[in-house]
Formats: sequence, C-alpha cells, structure tokens
Amino acid sequence: MSFSDFHGNAETVRRLRQMLARDRFPHAVVLSGARGSGKYTLALMLAQALNCLEPTHTDGLPDFCGRCSNCRRIAQAGDLEAQFAEAVETREGLREADKKETRLFIQTHPDVLVIPPDPPQMMIKVDQVRRVIETIYYRPSEARERVYLFTDSAFMKEAANSLLKVLEEPPKFATIFLLSENVGELLPTIRSRSMVFHLCAIPVEEVERYLAQHRPEWKAPQRALVARLSEGALGRARTFDVDAYVEARSSALVILRSALLGGEHSQLFKITETYRSGADGREKTEQLLRTLYSLLRDLMFLGSGAPELVQNTDVLAELKRLGAAADFDWIATASERLADVERGMRRNLLRSLSLDAFELALERSS
Ligand SMILES: [Zn+2]
Repeated sequence: MSFSDFHGNAETVRRLRQMLARDRFPHAVVLSGARGSGKYTLALMLAQALNCLEPTHTDGLPDFCGRCSNCRRIAQAGDLEAQFAEAVETREGLREADKKETRLFIQTHPDVLVIPPDPPQMMIKVDQVRRVIETIYYRPSEARERVYLFTDSAFMKEAANSLLKVLEEPPKFATIFLLSENVGELLPTIRSRSMVFHLCAIPVEEVERYLAQHRPEWKAPQRALVARLSEGALGRARTFDVDAYVEARSSALVILRSALLGGEHSQLFKITETYRSGADGREKTEQLLRTLYSLLRDLMFLGSGAPELVQNTDVLAELKRLGAAADFDWIATASERLADVERGMRRNLLRSLSLDAFELALERSS
C-alpha cells in the first residue's frame, strides 16, 4: 500500500503530501466528500505517512512503506464497517450497567484512535471527546504523531464544544481528522480551526476503469450501471450490491409499466406478495423506493432531451418505451407522491407498508 493506491482527487492528495513534506501538517484536517468517496482510506494513509518507521518518497513527495509495525497496525483499522460492527458487538456483550458507560472506539495502534458515531443516535458523544482530551496531551508512545480520526461530523452539542476546546490549544504532536459528508454540520468555529479538503466525485469513465480492475466478475453493462449509480464514489462502487439493485429494479419496472401502460395485474400481484412485510421487508421496500426514484429521474432526463445523464443505461430501450407514455407532469406528480409515501414510512418506523401505496402514488388519473 502507498498513496498510489488512492484513486482520484490527485491534486488534493498532492497538496496534503506537500504539507507532510514541509513538516507543517495541520493539527486539524476536515476531509469532506460523499459516502464512499475515500475520506477514511485517505485519512488512514495520512496517519501512516505521519508515523511510518521507514518513510519513502514517491513522485518527490512523502509516502509510507505499508510494511513497518506502525503502518501495519494503522492499516488494520481499514475495514471500518467490520471494526465498527465488532465494537458494537463487544459492547452488547457487557453487563447492562457497563453498557451505558461504554463508548465506541476503534483502536489498532496505541497512538491512533478512531472515533465512530455512537449508536443508536449515531452521533459523536461527549464521553468520546473526553477520551480524546484525556490522552491527547501525552506524547505518543510508539508513533511520532498521535492521530484522532472522527469518522462522522454529527456531534452532540456538548461534544462539539469540548472538541472546540481541544482545537483551540492542540498539542504539537497530535493530528485530528474530521470526516464529513456535510461540513455544514460542523460548528463554524471548528471549521475555521481546521483545514478543509474536499474529495470530489470521480468521472464515470474512471470509475468504470477502476471496476474493470476490482470487479472483473461483473459484466461490462453491470460495471457501466454501477459506475453511474455510485455517483463518483469509488467505495460505493466497489461495494455496490448490483444483484439486489437489479432485483429491486425489475419490480420497480413492473410497477411503472403497470402505471403507464396498463395490464400486468397478475405480475404486479405476484410482486406485491414478495414484499409482504417483515423485519427485512423494510430494507427491501426502501431499496425499491430508491430504485423507483432513480428510474423516474431517468425518465425525466429522457423527456428533457438529456439521455447522456441516464443512469440505468442497461435498460435504456425499456426506459424509452416508458418515457413515450410519461409526460413531465406525470413524472413530477409521481415523484411528489412517492415522497409523501416515504415520509409516511419514516413516521411509522415500525409499521409495515404494503406496495399498494406505491402503486397508488403512481396511478395515472388523479
Ligand atoms: Zn511504514
């Protein structure tokens, strides 16, 4: 592993590495970008570069070896989802009284602390920031630089205020990374004490090339589809569940065909049966809803003469057939009504929802 394994956003990576080269790495770095844009991967790479025991240079800029004991241990935190699930499970196994007191952390190196949002609220809590305050003023034991990595920018109010105090007087030997999908969530005073870098979406063709390497088992039309649906986020593209998407989409297409072209009642009925609720029914229903939105948006692009923006390119012929029967008003009304259904679903978190509501929302005559 080295910086050359980070794909896209070359200019941003270069600027960060230049700061490493000048030994003037900022005490607080905000990495912003969509889910799956590489924020966590890049932050861990920088943590390795800050602490590598056998640092190298590539392209004239600092790099990390990926093999020394610091690099290896930091890289062990790489699979955030798995590490997070493990931390949650460990806490679940504690006695009731201890459970309440225990906050979530991921630590694979004594001087590098990863701080994920704490469930069930999925926010950073004050006790997590307290742990940062308790340790940040001690010199690192095995690293050159203590690293704190907040994986989310949703802070409880008290937690944000505590973090701000740290940022007002950070020790020389510590670096704080704040990852954010929406920097607006961070206090302006936190942002102003940090350097903010944005990871942009990667062009579709580049994502396709990346998938050709990392998902060779997918067929070219699947890769083209996923590249468009992941909206320039490589992490999302790589982990995309294309089978689940295609399954949901085939249901969504039946619903759209039935609404726009009529007929298909028996097929519609069959699908409705498979969505009869249950615990996992909700997930499935949400996937269907997202897919319906994605198809409606594609119909909108086709209708407004922008076929190059269509995401579901592998069913273009079918979309054109549907598009011929759908005018702008219908698409707009259908999207609004779907949004109503979605809001209803969110209000009644546990209540099951039958597919009838979707069908009703898309019904032609209003
Ligand atoms: Zn190393």
